[in-house]
Amino acid sequence: MPELPEVETVRAGLARWVAGRTIAEVEVRHPRAIRRHLPGSAHFAALLTGRKILDVKRRGKYLWLPLDSGDAILGHLGMSGQLLCQPASAPDELHLRVRLRFTDGDPELRFVDQRTFGGLAVSEGGADLPAEIAHIARDPMDPEFSDAGFAAAIRAKRTEVKRALLDQTLISGVGNIYADEALWRAQLHGVRPTSALTKPAAARLLGHVRDVLSEALDSGGTSFDALYVNVNGESGYFDRSLNVYGREGEPCRRCGTPIRREAFMNRSSYYCPHCQPRPRVRTGSRSRTNVP
Ligand SMILES: [Zn+2]
Repeated sequence: MPELPEVETVRAGLARWVAGRTIAEVEVRHPRAIRRHLPGSAHFAALLTGRKILDVKRRGKYLWLPLDSGDAILGHLGMSGQLLCQPASAPDELHLRVRLRFTDGDPELRFVDQRTFGGLAVSEGGADLPAEIAHIARDPMDPEFSDAGFAAAIRAKRTEVKRALLDQTLISGVGNIYADEALWRAQLHGVRPTSALTKPAAARLLGHVRDVLSEALDSGGTSFDALYVNVNGESGYFDRSLNVYGREGEPCRRCGTPIRREAFMNRSSYYCPHCQPRPRVRTGSRSRTNVP
């Protein structure tokens, strides 16, 4: 599943290749890809045809393309979505769902999605910020993200620290992989209660989140110049240096203890049991007397 660094790579590539161009023709090849656009394919196409794309923006893992009409194309890549800029002569991809042709010719923009969990919609009046995603918090790479606000909000939540990192109303763009990586760096177990985090600990954790994301962005940013803007959950995704994620049984790079995997919300959490000890359970007076 593409995480924030991958989506940001797509955003930058798209901005380069489609901003300032006018849409000539819209072809919806599979209705599921625009299922969030309730009025349907013809309405979707009518709102886009003849409109100029002004920019490509992002909130968390959502992309939006403001149009000169004041509307925006709102997109999410889901598990396997790709936005490809391709010459019209390139053969259609097997899972091509939506195609936009432009008045100035090549390249065209293709939304390709094998599993079709992602999709496109028109957000009417959404050029500045689509209402559909206004509840999503800024991500830590956003210049307007508030560090102090985050520290206060995470400490006020009655939840566990990994769940908080995945809570899009608190901080956006952090998925399962980078949450595990940041927690390993911060030496925190994911089930620690956020209410027990001190302000400095919350600030340190945020710093690690930001480091993990920016390092991933640096390594994912090498394809910025390519015409072929590609996000693919399979290729080039797991080859970057991960310290814990996917390393069950392998030695911790800090202390050598074998990395452990646990089930977590239909997925997995990876952590070092030595560097990231589980918090002691204090459910009642009985256990409290047992813990010195
Ligand atoms: Zn360790």
